[in-house]
Parts: sequence; C-alpha cells; structure tokens
Amino acid sequence: MLKVQNARNVLIADDNIINRRILKAVLGSDYNIIEAEDGLQVMDILKTRGDDISVILLDILMPGMDGYEVLRAVRADPKFTALPIVVTTQQDDTEAEPVALALGATDYLPKPYRPEIIKQRIHNLILLRESTVFINAMERDSVSGLYTEDAFIRQAQGVLDANLYPYYYVISMDIDRFELVNEIFGLEEGNQILQFLGRSIIHSLKNTGGVAARASGTKFYMLYPAKAQGDEKEVIRFLRDGLASYPVDFILTPRFGVYPVDTKTSTATTMCEMAHTALKAAQKRIDEPVVYYDEAFQKKVMEEVQITFEMRSALEDGQFHPYYQPKYNLQTGMLQEAEALVRWIHPERGTMSPASYIPIFERNGFITQMDLKLWDSVCAHIRQWTDAGLDPVPVSVNVSWVDIYNPNLAVLLRQTVDKYGLPTRMLHLEITETVYTQNPHLMINALKALREAGFIVGVDNFGLGYSSLNMLGKIPVDELKLDMRLLDNNLFVKGNRSVVKFIVEMAQDMGLSVIAEGIETADDYQYLKQLGCRMGQGYYLSSPLPETDYARLLREERKWKGN
Ligand code: C2E
Ligand code: CA
Repeated sequence: MLKVQNARNVLIADDNIINRRILKAVLGSDYNIIEAEDGLQVMDILKTRGDDISVILLDILMPGMDGYEVLRAVRADPKFTALPIVVTTQQDDTEAEPVALALGATDYLPKPYRPEIIKQRIHNLILLRESTVFINAMERDSVSGLYTEDAFIRQAQGVLDANLYPYYYVISMDIDRFELVNEIFGLEEGNQILQFLGRSIIHSLKNTGGVAARASGTKFYMLYPAKAQGDEKEVIRFLRDGLASYPVDFILTPRFGVYPVDTKTSTATTMCEMAHTALKAAQKRIDEPVVYYDEAFQKKVMEEVQITFEMRSALEDGQFHPYYQPKYNLQTGMLQEAEALVRWIHPERGTMSPASYIPIFERNGFITQMDLKLWDSVCAHIRQWTDAGLDPVPVSVNVSWVDIYNPNLAVLLRQTVDKYGLPTRMLHLEITETVYTQNPHLMINALKALREAGFIVGVDNFGLGYSSLNMLGKIPVDELKLDMRLLDNNLFVKGNRSVVKFIVEMAQDMGLSVIAEGIETADDYQYLKQLGCRMGQGYYLSSPLPETDYARLLREERKWKGN
C-alpha cells in the first residue's frame, strides 16, 4: 500500500494572502507548500518543477490569469492531464463548481475551509493519483503507450470472457531487422517509430473493444474483436500502410501471425502462443508477411513435430537413401556426372522428397547428421560400382548451408572419401548460394578449405538470388549450377532467356563450367546446347534414379563406350 510522505509538494494558488496562510497552516505539517499569487505564477512554477507537484489548490477569482484559464492551460498539456487540481470556491458560488469540473478540476473545496476535510481530501487525492500512476507504469509500456504483456493477457482474457462479439483475432506482430534502425538512426528515432506504431495500433482498435500490448522490443500483441470474418485484414493493412509511409530511409516490414479464435476454451496466453507460432512462420517467408494459425497451418506444425520425432530412428534404420540423377554432356550426349538427391523411404509413408523435411532438418540442425550419412552412402556406392568394374563418373552431393558453419567440414568429407579409398575428384560438392548472402566471409573460407582438400565445388541454384552476380568473381568455385527456375517453362520468355545467355557467357569467360538443371523439354535442351552450356540435368534427360537403376545405367554406358 502506498503512503503519502512528507516530501509531497502542494501548490497553493490564491491572490489572497490570508487564504494562503490558512491553507498553509492546515497542510504545512504534512506537505511542502509552494505559493502562487496568480495564474501566471502557477504556469511558471509548473514549467520549472511541474513533475514535483502532487496537487494544486486553485482559487478561481485571481487577477490576470484566473483559475478557469489556468485549468484550461494545464489540462491542454498532456503531461498534466492526471495532475489533481482542487478548485477553491466561495460557498455561495454555485456557478463556479460545475464550470470548474467541466474544465477538468478534480474536486472542489468550499470556503470557509474546514481543516479536517481539507486534510483528508488532499490525502485521498494524492494517494489515488500515485496508485494510478503506479499501476499505469506497471501496466503500460512507456514507449508505445500500449499494455505490457501481462496486463494485456489480463485485459484480453476479460474481453474474451465477456463474449460480446462474433469473431476474435489474436494478432502477433514484429518488424523485420528493426535493430538496424536503432543502429543506423539511433535509439531516439527507433523509439519514435515505436510510438508512432503504438498510436496507429490504438487508432486501429478504437471503438472495437480490442486491446494491444508491446510485449518486448518490436513484438506486439493485439486482440481484435470483429463483427465480420476477415475484418482483421483491415487492421493489418492499416498498420502496414502506416509503417510503409513512415518518413525514414529504411523499409519497415511488419510481419503478422494471426490466430482466428475458434474456440473460447483456450486461454488468452495459449492464443498468444499460437499467434506467435504463426508469426515465426511469417518471418521465414519471403513472399507472404501474414500467416494464419488455421487448420492447414496446424497440420504443418503437427507434421513438423512428427518428422522431428522420427528423424533419428529413421537415420539409424537406414531409411535415407541417395537417388542419382545423371548429368549429361550437352554437346556429346555422354554421361558425365550424377547428383545424389536424398529420398526418405518411410515404412508407412513411402518415398518422401526432401522439400518436406530438409527445411525442418536445417532448422533443428539434424541436417548435418543426415548429410554426413548420405555422403557416406554415396561413397560406399561409388566403391561398389568401382569394384564391380562399372567405371563410375563423379557424383555431386548437396552440402547444406548449415554444414558450412562446421569448421571441420573439409576434414569430415575427406575422411569419408578416404574411408572408401576414393580420390576426392569422385565427390563433387553443391553448395547453395544462400550462404553467400548470409555470411560471405564464412562461405569464401569454407570454399577455400574444401578446394584445398581436393574437392570440386559448385554453386547451386545460381541466378535467381539477388547476390548472384555480385558474388561472381569473388568466390573460389569451379562450377555454377543455373537455378532451374530460370528455365521453369519460361526459357523463351525474353527476359529469362537473355539472363541465361548472359550468365553462361560470363561464367565461361571466367573459366567456370556451367551446369543447367531442370531441363524438361527438347527446346530447353537445344537452346542450352547451342549456347555452349557444357552439362545439363533434368527430367527430359533422366529423373533421379534409385541406386540399382543408376548402376544399370552405368553398366549400359560402359558397354556403349566399349563399342
Ligand atoms: P536442388 O539441389 O536444386 O536439386 C534439384 C531438384 O530438382 C531435385 O529435387 C530434383 O529431383 C529436381 N529436378 C531434377 N530435374 C528436374 C526437372 O527437370 N524439373 C523439375 N521441376 N525438377 C527437377 P529434390 O530431389 O526434391 O531436391 C530438392 C532440394 O533438396 C535440392 O534442390 C537440394 O537443395 C535439397 N537436397 C536434396 N538432397 C539433399 C541432400 O542430400 N542434402 C541436402 N543438404 N540437401 C538436399
Ligand atoms: Ca543440388
């Protein structure tokens, strides 16, 4: 419980010295008394030490600036909207009281004064104000003016329990890379943007019965009660537009996770967690900044849980197998290399393609174990084919960006080929260019180490990432693998065609060999051949094959070469 202590300052404004003396005599033992003879003095005192004043006792009739004018001026300043102002009036002045209250007076004291009543009223007012300030400070975030997370949860639960609206949406929001704003423009500018956002959120929830919080940093929560399904899109659009037009030289990209409340049985806390899970998914998307925690999303989350649960035993059971997709020399039509692509042969779900689990393994780090196992299997196969006299061609394996963070990568790969007595030139490595964007130094160092260890290294999915051309010439690689989306049925769209031509020519000028992937048609094939592209891979030539089929192909190739 808060106590009123002696250090509180009470400002007494009255032109009549007798009145001031009386009030001082009543209150002086409990408070420090500051005196003002007219309205102008009150304003001066507030300017210099307004924060220290606990309450003002204000006479209405004063020369110069009267009490009404003071009330108007003080209440116009947002700093003093909550400062208690007690108006002192003559007992017979029935007009003054309602006017003063309408102008923002907190209370009034009729003259002549009754000491005990004055003491008690002032004491109560100060106590009330300080506990309100205290609660506000505890419940409100000082930068955005929104609730803190705890207060939000309480308020949101209240709104949900009242159940006055047909639909509710819990929205979690964050701004991409906001720490850069603070770094580049300073904390002050960062705070101004958060204040602006706080005001925008308050505005967008006005008259909706909704509540909002700044949970931490740039993480916001909103509970939005809606009259119709889809109304929440308006709020999201409003906040996105507002941030997009904010005058700062930085693209402010907000992301949203939305939980459409379909059952009132969950608590507000759980709903926030679900909205936040959707937000985390939105943060990983390039295309769509808003993700809903709906049925489809829940299914994906459950799948991820299932995959994470099964992955270790699947690795031990030997359920991950390399498939081999041949790469042909486009000029001679000869088999030149192959790419190993993992397939999870699941006892119940059958053959699973990597798109459904590689991103999960990359997030949880398991990819490093799976890749190592796959490289081992590939080397074991090459050994078998060699021993069977099949004269195998080199195989390239995919190296995840997560593997690049392992400082022992080159050593591990080297140990794998050594284990099967293979020369390093039999294992080529494909590294996707995303690492370059994330951490160019790391990528360059890793590539150097891998090449020094004797491996041929290629950049995978080259051409569509925005760092592509920027990295050419800076990274030590042997091969470029053109991103198949460049060919994606659009080869003859003029723009893409010239990009392919440009990249092939430039890479060849730099002494790099170019591999085109995703060749699906005879047209793709002819065009790339005529451009002088050395190697190609795609469904038109062959889809990825299980080991037995690929071994058969090697056998046939050998026969063909022998003839
Ligand atoms: P990627 O390295 O770009 O591999 C090419 C993908 O395109 C493969 O999909 C392949 O099956 C598919 N593909 C081949 N020819 C064509 C074509 O003509 N048209 C079309 N539309 N697609 C074609 P897959 O096997 O599903 O692999 C997807 C991605 O998963 C790979 O993309 C690679 O980034 C990753 N991945 C595959 N295996 C491994 C692995 O063992 N380790 C790691 N770290 N990543 C792997
Ligand atoms: Ca690849």
